Amino acid sequence: MKDKKTQKLKQIRDEVWNLTNSPLYKYRKKNNHYPVIGEGSHFAKIVFIGEAPGRNEALTGRPFCGAAGKILDELLESVNIKRKDVYITNIVKDQPPENRDPTIEEINIYSPFLIQQLEIIKPEIIATLGRFSMEFIMKLYKLEDKLQQISYLHGQTFETKTSWGEIKIIPLYHPAAALYNSNQLGIFKHDFKALK
Ligand code: URA
Repeated sequence: MKDKKTQKLKQIRDEVWNLTNSPLYKYRKKNNHYPVIGEGSHFAKIVFIGEAPGRNEALTGRPFCGAAGKILDELLESVNIKRKDVYITNIVKDQPPENRDPTIEEINIYSPFLIQQLEIIKPEIIATLGRFSMEFIMKLYKLEDKLQQISYLHGQTFETKTSWGEIKIIPLYHPAAALYNSNQLGIFKHDFKALK
C-alpha cells in the first residue's frame, strides 16, 4: 500500500498522461514523447520548478536529465544536496515544439497540476529555476509586489504564507543559462548556498 502523498501524485500523473485537451498533447503523441510529471522525494523540503521539458526530458519522462540537468546536478552537489532528497518538476509538463517559450494558454492548462503537487508535497522551500517559474510562483504566493527582473532577485529569499504554512521562495537562474555563459556558474553556485 503506497502512502497518501504517492497515491495523490500518481493521480496527477494519470491526469496529465490523459490531457488530450492540451495543445501539446498531439505533439507528444506524434513524437512518441512522455509527459514529464516530476521526480524525487514526495517528502522533500525543497521543490525545484523549471519551465518545461526539453527533448531529452520528453524522450525519457524525467525532468532535467539533459544538458541543463547536468548543470543542476553540479549545483546541487556544490551545496551537498542529494537529488533524491528534493523534488524536481516544471510548470508545463509537455515539451513545447522546438523548445520555444511556453504560452500563457499552456501555463494555464498545466499550472493547476503544479499547484496540486505543491499542496501534496508541502515543501518548506520552493526554488524557482528561471524567469517563467519565478513570475508564476511569486504571483501565486502573493509576492507580486516584490517582482523584479531575475537579475535583481536571483539568490534572494522571500517568505510567504501558504495553505500548509510559512515557506521560503528562492528565485534562481535557469541552469541552462550556464550552457551559454560558463562564467555564470560561480554566480549560480553562490545563489544555491541560499538553499542550505
Ligand atoms: N529545462 C526545464 O525548464 N525543465 C527541464 O525539465 C529541462 C530543461
